[in-house]
Amino acid sequence: MANSKFEYVRNFEQTDSLLPNTWIVVRVDGRAFTKMCAKYGFEKPNDRRALDLMNAAAKAVVTDLPEAMIAYGVSDEYSFVFHKSYNLFERRASKLVSTIVSTFTANYVYSWPTCFPGTPLSFPLPTFDGRAVCYPSLQNLRDYLSWRQVDCHINNLYNTTFWSLIQLGGLDNKEAEKILAGTLAAEKNEILFSKFHINYNNEPEIFKKGSVIFRDYELVDPGSHAVDLEMDALAEPVQQSKTQAEKDKKKRAKARVVVEHIDIIKDEFWDKRPWILS
Ligand code: ATP
Ligand code: ATP
Ligand code: MG
Ligand code: MG
Ligand code: MG
Ligand code: MG
Repeated sequence: MANSKFEYVRNFEQTDSLLPNTWIVVRVDGRAFTKMCAKYGFEKPNDRRALDLMNAAAKAVVTDLPEAMIAYGVSDEYSFVFHKSYNLFERRASKLVSTIVSTFTANYVYSWPTCFPGTPLSFPLPTFDGRAVCYPSLQNLRDYLSWRQVDCHINNLYNTTFWSLIQLGGLDNKEAEKILAGTLAAEKNEILFSKFHINYNNEPEIFKKGSVIFRDYELVDPGSHAVDLEMDALAEPVQQSKTQAEKDKKKRAKARVVVEHIDIIKDEFWDKRPWILS
């Protein structure tokens, strides 16, 4: 298109490219979901329909953007991980975050009637915010994911005990809060077991561990194939060649995208699936 005298305004755009050679995590989080829970009567502490809906939306994002290596979801949030060598949207933060947030939100709204049959959406519609964070080492990235999964566990143990005291114990919010103030995990387990005969270990994995989305290839015997990814990565160029990136993308686009509720803190998950971060 021909230049116009107005074209100079383009120079006002700020560059916001994410640091090269770092793992990118984009986390989306539901806006004012505490209100959403009340409005749509989410079951407390865990509404399975709402979790299934988050997973459906996140699965659509991972399927739509084969560059997403793995995603982790809990409550009203989902984190999407992009390989440090990827150059998607020239690593421009606003393009990456806004594309993920809008893909996620569009799919959340689209899948609502499937997960909440008989409960039509009304205004204000569900929306999500998003942010991108760069992690320079694989250890930082693993620690990020561990942080989210530990958070899931801590919150779920608290919420399960809190809501048992209310729903089964007949207490009000204030009384339940008071009983739980300053308690350790073991004490919450004990309250659940002695008062309500609930063994926390038997709670559904999706509540205790959250949800992990990844591409499923064949499992690898960790003994024979595990590689020290960090060391291996030292030899890698900062960016993949275009043809290699295209090949990888095609392979990933064909693989099955799965949702599991599984520990990602220990090495086992990663050792068995070395392709996820390689
Ligand atoms: P913000 O806009 O700042 O994120 P928020 O109200 O969404 O505000 P969060 O810290 O994101 O605050 O908390 C989300 C709330 O939604 C929590 O109270 C959480 O328990 C609740 N929630 C999310 N998913 C579910 C679910 N599947 N079942 C029951 N409650 C849920
Ligand atoms: P990108 O993802 O990079 O934005 P794009 O295909 O959306 O790729 P744009 O530069 O945004 O590229 O161009 C949008 C295209 O959609 C143009 O070809 C434009 O003519 C077409 N388009 C948008 N709105 C309409 C419309 N209302 N009717 C017909 N064509 C439209
Ligand atoms: Mg928030
Ligand atoms: Mg929220
Ligand atoms: Mg949240
Ligand atoms: Mg466009």
